[in-house]
Amino acid sequence: MGTFCDGLPPSLADLLTNTLILRQTAPYLPISALRNLSRTSKALHYAIFQSPDAFRYLDLSTVKSAIVPFDGPLDVGGISFRAERMDESLTEDDFYSGPLRHILNRLEKFHVLRNVHVLVLDKLSVTAELVKELLTEERFNVRILSIREVRHLNERKLQQYLRYAVRPSRPAGTPRIKGLYLFGPCDPTPRPASPATKKSPGLASRGVMSSQGAQIGAQWNQKSQHALDAALSRTEDKWYQPSGKIIPKRPSPEWAEVLQTCEGIIAFDAVLCRGPRHDPSKAYVPDATTSGTHHPSSFLRPTIATVALGPSGCETCHSSPEGPALFGYSSPAHHPLLSPVPLHGSSLRAAQMPHTLDGSAPPPLIVRCEDCLRGRWCERCHKWWDEDCYAGSAIAQRTELQQTELRESIRPDGTSHLLPKQTVKIIGVRRDCFGCGHTCISCKELFIRTCKKCSFEYCHEDNDSSSDTMCDWCNYTSRRTLEMY
Ligand SMILES: [Zn+2]
Ligand SMILES: [Zn+2]
Ligand SMILES: [Zn+2]
Ligand SMILES: [Zn+2]
Ligand SMILES: [Zn+2]
Repeated sequence: MGTFCDGLPPSLADLLTNTLILRQTAPYLPISALRNLSRTSKALHYAIFQSPDAFRYLDLSTVKSAIVPFDGPLDVGGISFRAERMDESLTEDDFYSGPLRHILNRLEKFHVLRNVHVLVLDKLSVTAELVKELLTEERFNVRILSIREVRHLNERKLQQYLRYAVRPSRPAGTPRIKGLYLFGPCDPTPRPASPATKKSPGLASRGVMSSQGAQIGAQWNQKSQHALDAALSRTEDKWYQPSGKIIPKRPSPEWAEVLQTCEGIIAFDAVLCRGPRHDPSKAYVPDATTSGTHHPSSFLRPTIATVALGPSGCETCHSSPEGPALFGYSSPAHHPLLSPVPLHGSSLRAAQMPHTLDGSAPPPLIVRCEDCLRGRWCERCHKWWDEDCYAGSAIAQRTELQQTELRESIRPDGTSHLLPKQTVKIIGVRRDCFGCGHTCISCKELFIRTCKKCSFEYCHEDNDSSSDTMCDWCNYTSRRTLEMY
């Protein structure tokens, strides 16, 4: 800090040669800005290329030269790009990972490649071979790699390479990569919001809204729902909130097996479902004489959890048979890598730790696969029932449950006593409307109405031409009848 005290304001070089400031600043600078800065003075050049911090976090997803201009297969419509552009020996891998390899080779030449601990290659052309090299080769030192929404990645090959990288006979110190972002969507790039064109992802699937007023109303509803979810789960992290389906595309069963094989060695931005049906000691395993695969508690093979249920647990017992994952107490394999990719740390802890709004202890994590939630999870309000509280069935339906409650009753003489009272609770979910999905009885009562003319049930929210009292068909015909006369 000596240079700061001579009365002159500190120069940029002074600031960036301060390790802490460089470590905090560099992740926000694109690689081109770092390069340009390094050219302005000897001191800055030294600070950027000699410090282990300048390239610790490297996001190449925005670098134009890393993008492969062709999207389709190499030989399109009889025109071979390979033959036309390059020599015969060029492989498909060379072609698609060429731009990235070029950048990585340049970084190696400048002796900064080994400083890269967090590498973001989202949306780029990334081949399985390149990932294999990042996993195993000595010249790389990447601990956290993000390859979300990448192109030209052969998933089967990548699965093979991952299995190979974690094999029991692997060399000590490998694989270098400890965390892999693969399943989730890319981190959103913060852009000025334009409310006229911005459509929230939840709304897009809800069909066309009838009017702009309804649309704005629904957007506000959704915004306040998000705020409420965040407040109740005390965190902005979607995995820890009742977010519902959190991985848009259901990963293949092979991926679940890869996650299982990599457990404790490589962590992912996804976790396996720990529902009791995946546990052979608890699940119903049909023997050869019975065909029990459709039994509501029959064994399920490993599956990636794709639904975030929030911290509250089952609607009835506020718990779950497998118990929630508690950060810092449960196995790190039970916690997904969180978005965004950490800017200022390259440890698994930095990538997995949920940040609470008030700095308190992280909320419990409850996530499951869709198979374990069939018939027991409301897709609208996200309440759910566990196996202990609701047996469920192979087809999704709601069940009436008799409950005995003790109610206080006043005798004629003014004294009170407790009387048992039978109440009926309806639990479970059913699909009454395609747009709503499977819903609980309270959500059904909110959206599904009975048409006063034809007595059919209709969804007031998803059937645009329906009215408050009539289904879309009756509403349309009665309007047309009015218009005709
Ligand atoms: Zn329960
Ligand atoms: Zn499951
Ligand atoms: Zn509901
Ligand atoms: Zn509906
Ligand atoms: Zn009707």
